[in-house]
Amino acid sequence: MPWPPRFLFIAGRLSIDFALTGGEGERAQWERWHTPEDFADWARACPLLAVDVRVERLDLIDARELREALWWGAQAVLRGDTVSREIQHLLSRFAEQPNLVPVMRAGEMHWLDPTAAQVFSSVSRDAIELFGTGLRSRLRECRNPICGLLFVDLSRPGKRLWCTMRRCGNLNKIARYRTGHGIAESND
Ligand SMILES: [Zn+2]
Repeated sequence: MPWPPRFLFIAGRLSIDFALTGGEGERAQWERWHTPEDFADWARACPLLAVDVRVERLDLIDARELREALWWGAQAVLRGDTVSREIQHLLSRFAEQPNLVPVMRAGEMHWLDPTAAQVFSSVSRDAIELFGTGLRSRLRECRNPICGLLFVDLSRPGKRLWCTMRRCGNLNKIARYRTGHGIAESND
């Protein structure tokens, strides 16, 4: 797998994966949704496996608005603050829209004529559960100070430190190795 991959699904939580696709300011360098097709590709690849989502250009405006709310909501949770009233309202507004509708065809689950608005609803419901219950205590920022990726630590001991071993965990191992090596040399 080339690194970084086109889309990251490392957060263990749909709404946080959604938030890690770019954004305003510094996060613009990670933008993954330039066109409606990009968003449709993301929806197909994400844990919802929403194939053939209908996405209009205007949907990208909603996608970005929701993404900012998720990012800043997560930042508030990480600080131990309550998510702002504005963000709570926005998440609730998206979540009250109809959700994706599962249907069975030929023994397999599919989504019935999925739309971007339905994906936003699913993502917002996921975020409301994450930010609005004890699950929020499992939200983490990667320990690498220059990384900034977020994830939900679902491990039983709750001691996950890194977004991924590949991106940051291994860097840390290398740094520790080098430090150890440096000490050995200074002892010579
Ligand atoms: Zn990281």
